[in-house]
Amino acid sequence: MSGFKFSHGHQFINGSWLRGTGEVLSRINPATGELLEEIDTASPEEVDQAVHAATQAFITWSAITPAERSNHLLALARELQNQAQVLAEVETSQTGKSMRMSTEFDVPGSIDNVNFFAGAARHLQGLASGDYAGNSTSMIRREPLGVVGSVAPWNYPLQMAAWKILPAIAAGNTIVLKPSELTPGTSLLFALAAKTAGLPDGVVNVVVGSGSTVGQALVRHQLVKMTSFTGSTQVGLKIMSMAAETGKRVHLELGGKAPFVVFDDADIEAAAHGAVAGSTINAGQDCTAATRAYVHSSVFEKFTGRVAQLMSQMVVGDPTDPNTDMGALISEAHVEKVSSMVARAVDAGATVLSGGTKLDGPGNFYRPTLLVNATQDSEIVQQEVFGPVLVALPFETDDEAIKLANDTPYGLAASAWTKDINRAMRASAQIQAGCVWINEHIIIVSEMPHGGYKASGMGKDMSQYSFDEYTNVKHVLISHDTAAHRDWQNTVFL
Ligand code: NAD
Repeated sequence: MSGFKFSHGHQFINGSWLRGTGEVLSRINPATGELLEEIDTASPEEVDQAVHAATQAFITWSAITPAERSNHLLALARELQNQAQVLAEVETSQTGKSMRMSTEFDVPGSIDNVNFFAGAARHLQGLASGDYAGNSTSMIRREPLGVVGSVAPWNYPLQMAAWKILPAIAAGNTIVLKPSELTPGTSLLFALAAKTAGLPDGVVNVVVGSGSTVGQALVRHQLVKMTSFTGSTQVGLKIMSMAAETGKRVHLELGGKAPFVVFDDADIEAAAHGAVAGSTINAGQDCTAATRAYVHSSVFEKFTGRVAQLMSQMVVGDPTDPNTDMGALISEAHVEKVSSMVARAVDAGATVLSGGTKLDGPGNFYRPTLLVNATQDSEIVQQEVFGPVLVALPFETDDEAIKLANDTPYGLAASAWTKDINRAMRASAQIQAGCVWINEHIIIVSEMPHGGYKASGMGKDMSQYSFDEYTNVKHVLISHDTAAHRDWQNTVFL
């Protein structure tokens, strides 16, 4: 496994490494409990230094052509491809996720995102140009905002770095990213790859440290024009009010509690496999993971029996073993949180059909878990567990299924399983979520937006839609007849 060490410090500011003067934190390998390294963290002064570097870099980066920015991003994609193995190894050692997941999903997904935004950079255009007011032409300019400050979580550190950095810089902004203090490694390697690929210094900066010091200093900074945040709803709401102090734009990708609706005509074998994959992806530490299966009562036992069987066959353990299906959770404290939520659900009357226990030995492992007999208003159904835990509840009618699916504060993603096109279309219209999969649960693509309804946030990551977040839209109106304006009374007020 990679022993990559950031021997010159953990702050990447203006194209150089710097040792932060904040507190020193320990990074632990979640799968073994071993100390990976001690990391320096930034002080508010170093955050300020990074923001100033990004402010300076914005002057030239925003002025070059879209084609030049696009070429820089294509070079970055090639550099990341060269580093694919080390990126996967660092991602696995810092998160505990399986190497299979890092190599087949996180690294290629991130590189695809870079390639997508290299193309998108050249299509950053206005929607309309036309003669709307007579004797004039209206046009739209899309302009970058300036410095974007981004705060990211630990579950997909590399992909989160890509999702935040790419649309921002493709649109001509510069960025200061604060990854989770638990998983800074691949965000730092991403910034280093940007330098190696020839991006100008100061366009991509990474500062490392806790949310309460480094995160807050970045969100509150006067020169940061936008905060782009991915993380929990609880912290997202705090970020929103902090950002309001300086009136900056806010983009929030928050928690989720995805429903998984199985109608009576569904392909139960496909749905059962989909539920296992969808609820155990990244050890369930995925904001779109399937968490609540609503299953028609006529197929409830068949579905839950098969899910329990498949879950019990999963190989959980050493993330570096190619046979491993599911790796570790991020920390011991997180395993305790998952474990105690399951224990409280059982105390309240739920039954465990599979899993429900930790693995003995070192590392933060929890078995894929299926619960039944929980009530809709219980904690396990309403609150984000963020672990490999699926709760199944029966329903009788389509309307009831949709009502239950919508009955949490969240609205990030959902799926519906049916062979009936009318049902599928009704479910996709009526479920309040930023993404509804039909006969699928988890696939994301760079071309399509990702972002929530309700308490799951506002704004979109990925796709052309993310440019809406990272640009100002300006209307420019050009008069064709300046002579007509020599008399002020000729001006028409509509
Ligand atoms: P978190 O909210 O605890 O932390 C996220 C980031 O915010 C970290 O970098 C943290 O250091 C920082 N932070 C914490 N307090 C802060 C403060 N007061 N000021 C500024 N920054 C602060 O989330 P987490 O535990 O890292 O990640 C898990 C959460 O992220 C889950 O709720 C999950 O659903 C969500 N998530 C959402 C998406 C999405 O796209 N919607 C994607 C991934 C994860």
